[in-house]
Amino acid sequence: MKRIAVIGTGYVGLVTGTIFAHTGNRVVCCDVDARKIDQLQAGHMPIFEPGLSDIVETSVREERLSFSTDLTAAIQEADILYIAVGTPMSAKGDADMTYINRVAMTIAEAINSPKIVVIKSTVPVGTGHRVGQLIREHRAAPHEVAMVSNPEFLREGTAVKDALAMERAVIGTSSEVAYKEIASLHETLAKTIMRTSIESAEMIKYASNAFLATKISFINDIASICEATGADVSDIARGMGLDPRIGHQFLKAGVGFGGSCFPKDTKALMRIAETNGMRFPLMNAVIETNERMRRSIVDKVNNAANGLQGKTVAVFGLAFKPDTNDMRDAPALDIIPALREHGATVKAYDPIAIPEAREVLGSRASYHTSLYEAAKGADVILVLTEWKDILQADYHRLYALMNHPAVLVDGRNCLPDMAYSAGFDIRQVGRNYEP
Ligand code: NAD
Repeated sequence: MKRIAVIGTGYVGLVTGTIFAHTGNRVVCCDVDARKIDQLQAGHMPIFEPGLSDIVETSVREERLSFSTDLTAAIQEADILYIAVGTPMSAKGDADMTYINRVAMTIAEAINSPKIVVIKSTVPVGTGHRVGQLIREHRAAPHEVAMVSNPEFLREGTAVKDALAMERAVIGTSSEVAYKEIASLHETLAKTIMRTSIESAEMIKYASNAFLATKISFINDIASICEATGADVSDIARGMGLDPRIGHQFLKAGVGFGGSCFPKDTKALMRIAETNGMRFPLMNAVIETNERMRRSIVDKVNNAANGLQGKTVAVFGLAFKPDTNDMRDAPALDIIPALREHGATVKAYDPIAIPEAREVLGSRASYHTSLYEAAKGADVILVLTEWKDILQADYHRLYALMNHPAVLVDGRNCLPDMAYSAGFDIRQVGRNYEP
């Protein structure tokens, strides 16, 4: 049993802490957000993540997991400190280090014994060393600090499943003792444990996200060529993916990537290159294509509806992907305001992300938890997130509730067969559907 403090109880911190508690360690998840900690102490989840609440509940009941705003006490009672605070995008596009630096100072002030300090947040190359120095320079007592980079690869929506069966755990450190401790934490969780330097571990995270984002933008550029030439991007992706060197994953054409990681990590990687005197034109193109996809879906809706002035668009799906209520950098955040600028009224549907969406989109849309309510009286349905109930909806019923001719713009190329026989004028990405 190890004593662990997780500093920053967001998506990553909460999942990481819960999994370590679940595997028999004593974990305190702490945060400066008192409301979040109160909520967790009262047994409520601040995020929607399938399977999470059950293991939180069991681990709390069995006294392996607790929540606190007292960072100093949590740091002092632990041997391993996991930093999982946010690293949002700064105005210049770099990862903002404000929260990381603040945590480093808190650790320095609280230090009362040797600590292993693990950075789980996604941070620019060099941060691990810099944070180690910062703590050593300001530490209240001369205890040893071993720095580790252990980046997170979980996917929102399947975070618990991912964390319980990691493809790989990357552990970057120059400390033998710290490596053994952190590797043993992952023994039952990760298929492969890989040891690197701190810098390489930090870079693996950025390079992985940048590569996945590149696959998405690549297939979206291919989709645009398909639309112009009459090829079908779904067939192209399938044909490409059958080559094991390419693989099927992340080759789905659509409105592009969003969420709290890919948009900021691609920009941060470009900035890492720039601050080291290099250019990264490929990454620039990946970002540009992604931004273009958001604009082009609005054009598609506008063209299909013969102009949007006075029309109503039912937007199906607000969260950046299914099975999460995360609205950070979701395509809907650009697309809904753009639809409004074209004169459309927006009725928005999402099964769980409405409270989060309302906070950022406010009165730009009306909000519905029923697909059929959202479709009532609409001229267009625009699918932005492939939620299960959108894939399983009764498209004949939806069609009957709408104004006619009814347009269905499928921003994720995810429609079930039934949708094609319901009477809609269907538009997709990279495929020219003909009835
Ligand atoms: P988040 O915003 O959900 O959570 C961050 C938490 O840190 C917040 O609750 C905030 O209140 C807290 N915090 C801020 N300053 C603090 C301080 N000084 N002391 C204690 N707590 C503090 O962020 P997240 O999505 O969990 O991401 C965390 C990091 O993990 C980021 O670097 C992100 O890039 C990376 N990451 C995220 C994901 C993901 O899917 N969300 C996946 C892999 C990596």
